[in-house]
Amino acid sequence: MSSDTIVAIATPRGVGGIAVVRISGPDAQTIAERHLSPLTSHLSPRHATYCRFDDIDDGIAVYYPKGYTGEPTVEFSCHGSQYVQQAIVQALVDGGARLAEPGEYTMRAFLNGRLNLSQAEAVADLVDATTPQQHRLAVSQLRGGYAEELKALRQQLLDLTSLLELELDFSQEDVEFADRTQLMRLVDNISLRINTLRGTFRMGNALKHGIPTAIVGRPNAGKSSLLNALLADNRAIVSPIAGTTRDTVEETFNIDGITFRLIDTAGLHHTDDPLENMGIKRAIAAAVQADIILYVHDATRSFADALADMQALQDAGVQLKGKHLWIVCNKMDLPDATDPTPGHGIAVSSKLGTGLEKLRQAMVKAVSSDMASANDTLLSNARHYDALGRADNALRQVAKGLADGMPADLVATDLRDALYHLGTITGEVSNDEVLGNIFSRFCVGK
Ligand code: GDP
Repeated sequence: MSSDTIVAIATPRGVGGIAVVRISGPDAQTIAERHLSPLTSHLSPRHATYCRFDDIDDGIAVYYPKGYTGEPTVEFSCHGSQYVQQAIVQALVDGGARLAEPGEYTMRAFLNGRLNLSQAEAVADLVDATTPQQHRLAVSQLRGGYAEELKALRQQLLDLTSLLELELDFSQEDVEFADRTQLMRLVDNISLRINTLRGTFRMGNALKHGIPTAIVGRPNAGKSSLLNALLADNRAIVSPIAGTTRDTVEETFNIDGITFRLIDTAGLHHTDDPLENMGIKRAIAAAVQADIILYVHDATRSFADALADMQALQDAGVQLKGKHLWIVCNKMDLPDATDPTPGHGIAVSSKLGTGLEKLRQAMVKAVSSDMASANDTLLSNARHYDALGRADNALRQVAKGLADGMPADLVATDLRDALYHLGTITGEVSNDEVLGNIFSRFCVGK
């Protein structure tokens, strides 16, 4: 248990119907009760008590012997006035509590074994979730998800490693405590699981942060106009001078609960302007990384141009296979615009807004079918993705060592390495730097 008692407002900054001030730590009850009246005796555990906090406000106090943090906690619900909230916090600080750091409640919950590290991270994701998909990812991780399974596999690996290390103490006697076949099978098994999980990261990450959607095309085709029309505001600069979007512009927007990360890019064409060329390089890079490419085509030009540009994109290194691509034939409101060849494009006018709904629906449909074919468990946490990659590298070394009949001490070193990286996911092993990074993402009061 922590040595000091912390206090913070648990509800968002600002004015609301009610606000919750939370105090947690060994002296939470003592410090809180000094300010509450009328109290005939102590706050009874997990009961709502209507009382007055000094002469500041009337509200509801609840005492939890083991709250969210795993420590004694008192929550006081008061009126949502900023003055009231601050005054209560100040009174508790004067009474001996200390202001909480960002994420300190959740960090205590982790240190006290109420949550593992992966679950603590899921709390932050849950707080940040704005779409059903983000919510589903966070809840599944919070309820254990793949982390529990990895923890169990890690435990089996740990047991075998201990046996292997025991052999080292009997190095003169040529004994084998650790069954090599069993060890090999387990290593393969974990490797397979790791790679399946890592394979879902692209989708998981896209659902969490938005599906990367690159808007590419020639200068003046209407890329910025399409972005603005899809966003229905004026984020990117629209101008009739070719080459205005020199850098990439990013915006996220939701359709039917799916987040898309739209990336407007510089016009693709041949130029000697070094600045423009830099923009074009970035445009290509954005297209390479995108899951969806919206190729904007000026419908007053020949459709053959668009098809030629598709080839040029591929030649520049953009793998179109495995991505969703639409040729968005823009400026259909102009008299000399021609319809796309059936099945090869979506006709829109960014100016009038026609055809956009069809485009939105096509994007949603494509992603929904990707999601349906994806595994139930999706990996969306970049730290876990990295840790799994490192663990897998170590496991490959173990497998190689076992196959080559390497000495037990060398195999054991690689095993320890794999165990370490697997252990960082749920936090069996952690260090202050990692914890600091994770919990600083939280807000104060969480
Ligand atoms: P970008 O260089 O591809 O980003 O093109 P912009 O979005 O800056 O648009 C270039 C020009 O085309 C601007 O003058 C826009 O007003 C015009 N434009 C864009 N979309 C449409 C459209 O759907 N219809 C018409 N008539 N003009 C458009």
